[in-house]
Amino acid sequence: MSNYQKQRERMVQTQLAARGIRDARVLEAMEKVPRHLFVEEAMQEQAYSDHPLPIGEKQTISQPYIVALMTEALELKGHEKVLELGTGSGYQAAILAELAERVFTIERIPNLAYRANQILQKLGYKNVIVRVTDGTLGWPEESPFDAILVTAGAPNIPQTLVDQLAMGGRLLIPIGDRLSQELMRVERTPDGITKSTLGGVRFVDLVGKWAWEA
Ligand code: SAH
Repeated sequence: MSNYQKQRERMVQTQLAARGIRDARVLEAMEKVPRHLFVEEAMQEQAYSDHPLPIGEKQTISQPYIVALMTEALELKGHEKVLELGTGSGYQAAILAELAERVFTIERIPNLAYRANQILQKLGYKNVIVRVTDGTLGWPEESPFDAILVTAGAPNIPQTLVDQLAMGGRLLIPIGDRLSQELMRVERTPDGITKSTLGGVRFVDLVGKWAWEA
């Protein structure tokens, strides 16, 4: 067994299962996806540590626990169409690709999108499409989505995204100021929208028409 495989198993036990992540499919996906390949070579030794890591362009890949927490809250069963805003390294997209049918992911920085797409292709993820644009507009041609995951922080919940949720669909998005946010979960039900919060988080800015200015 490779050293990185061992590190992943330890990460799943000590950082995820021990802190209450229960969805077996989420734990399996996080044990499988080679997180170290989504960061620069100089960072690979730290890829399974309990913190976020820089991925260039002043952006970061989230701490493993936050990836697991957000993914679990989407309650994916395998048949879903998922939209992600903030492709970054592509790691979260790979996790989603393991757990849903199709993943549409949007990144505003071309260089990051390019690199993410390369590694996703290399690892054989054929069910992920990366697009370079402002994600706050959503992806109208592919909507509605069963789940939408925003991996950058916004001042408010963009209505464009709520409008692109399928009935029963879930939206996860960090909402707050530029220093700290609450992780919000929005569900579209026949009676309207229900909202809950999953605790405090700290994400880089969501920059776009319906979020922060560049
Ligand atoms: N999910 C990523 C981490 C994302 S970091 C991973 O697994 O590595 C947040 C990313 O959101 C950054 O790459 C940033 O460029 C991107 N971003 C910020 N505003 C955006 C927008 N309006 N549309 C798309 N991407 C955006």
